[in-house]
Amino acid sequence: MKKIILILIFISSVAYLNAQENCKWVDPKWRNFQFPEIEFTNMAEGTEGSDIYKRIVPDAVPFIQQHALWVAQTLYWSDQDSIPNIEKIKYTLEDKDGISAKGGQPPVINIFYSSRWVEKSELAQGDEKVLYETRGVLYHELTHGFQLEPQGIGGYKQGTEFWVFIEGMADAVRFHNGFFPVSDRKPGGSWMDGYRKTGYFLEWLTCKDPDFLRKFNKSALEIIPWSFDKAMKHVLGEQHTTDSLWSEYQDFLIKSQN
Ligand SMILES: [Zn+2]
Repeated sequence: MKKIILILIFISSVAYLNAQENCKWVDPKWRNFQFPEIEFTNMAEGTEGSDIYKRIVPDAVPFIQQHALWVAQTLYWSDQDSIPNIEKIKYTLEDKDGISAKGGQPPVINIFYSSRWVEKSELAQGDEKVLYETRGVLYHELTHGFQLEPQGIGGYKQGTEFWVFIEGMADAVRFHNGFFPVSDRKPGGSWMDGYRKTGYFLEWLTCKDPDFLRKFNKSALEIIPWSFDKAMKHVLGEQHTTDSLWSEYQDFLIKSQN
């Protein structure tokens, strides 16, 4: 019996290592990516949300690590770039209201995910959509860990360009990886709205430059004090303003509705 268990442990750890090695080998530029250590704590044990989570994510550690790599690959060109050094992610599933949030600063960040939100999503949409939502939310929160932050314009405060950059980029990375339905992208609003409104816009700019999200992220290191207009000009050319690009984007949305 002991032998069988040992063999099983061996097989599962080989499979796990292979998953990581495979990811690294897909692209030689990411071979040395340092996967953060994941400290996963299920604080919602015994709740229905916890049971659903365990069903859709049977192995949370490699699941979170894999998404960390995909987020880094969306924001950077290679593992040699100035990627914030996240050594550890303390990830908790908790029986409380809200959806998800990131706290802390590298080298250790924490991410909370609500088991009540998992229950609500399951009731409304079933397992497949809960996994889609769980992955989408994870893309958003991991982006907060890996993204660069604008300098010289104060800190995170709703309604400021700093906040628009932080939340807009998090939803842009989520959308770029396929975790918002394109049917949610509608005309109207402002690029200063943050979250999805800004995120869809930033993602659309990858039509103009496939590396737009990487370059826009990197502009936080290159432009001090940072602003949307300065970053747009820096990445896409002097002839642009954020407003001119936004109105071009609005025209595209209106046309694609017809
Ligand atoms: Zn956020």
